[in-house]
Amino acid sequence: MEKITGHDSLPKIMAGIMAGKAAGLAPIKINMVAMRGVNDDEIDDMAAFCIEQGFILRLIEAMPMGDTGRNAGHLDLQAVKEKLRAQFGLVEGVMPGGGPARYLQTPDGAFSIGFITPISQHFCGTCNRVRLSVDGTLYLCLGQEEKVEFRPLLRAGASDQMLEDAIRQAIEIKPERHEFREQPAKLVRFMSATGG
Ligand code: SF4
Repeated sequence: MEKITGHDSLPKIMAGIMAGKAAGLAPIKINMVAMRGVNDDEIDDMAAFCIEQGFILRLIEAMPMGDTGRNAGHLDLQAVKEKLRAQFGLVEGVMPGGGPARYLQTPDGAFSIGFITPISQHFCGTCNRVRLSVDGTLYLCLGQEEKVEFRPLLRAGASDQMLEDAIRQAIEIKPERHEFREQPAKLVRFMSATGG
């Protein structure tokens, strides 16, 4: 864990997750960025743990960013999906509330596992994500440069109608899709910096 996160905090994190369960928080979702040669040998254990605890597991493809992501071998989550489907007898599932994950679940619906595949099967075509940061910048994509500054408009006393018009114009420049593989230089921020 220390190698991936920079902290050896597993006991503290586990205590927090189990305290959340004991307090009745639901659903609890465990995100795992799956990386070949780094933690792909722990996917089965993670799935078994989540089934046992009644948590939703979401496997996420590593983005080609940061030292760990750039150095990690790409892991084909489609192959992992088929393996887990057979191993745990899972069927296609749905999860209310949208979001980028595609799900498998146990036939009784008690356990779900999601697959978030921004690289092998990107979901930009259905992306409705924009982020407004605390300094008034509206980011039109979590990782790319398209953005509109709203602070000057607000400081100039823009009316609600002017702000609405500006938001509509901003949506027009939302990128159609990312090109993280083809043009890694266009990946200008860590997604966590935007709140992805
Ligand atoms: S990369 Fe950008 S456009 Fe694609 S899904 Fe993520 S936020 Fe949306």
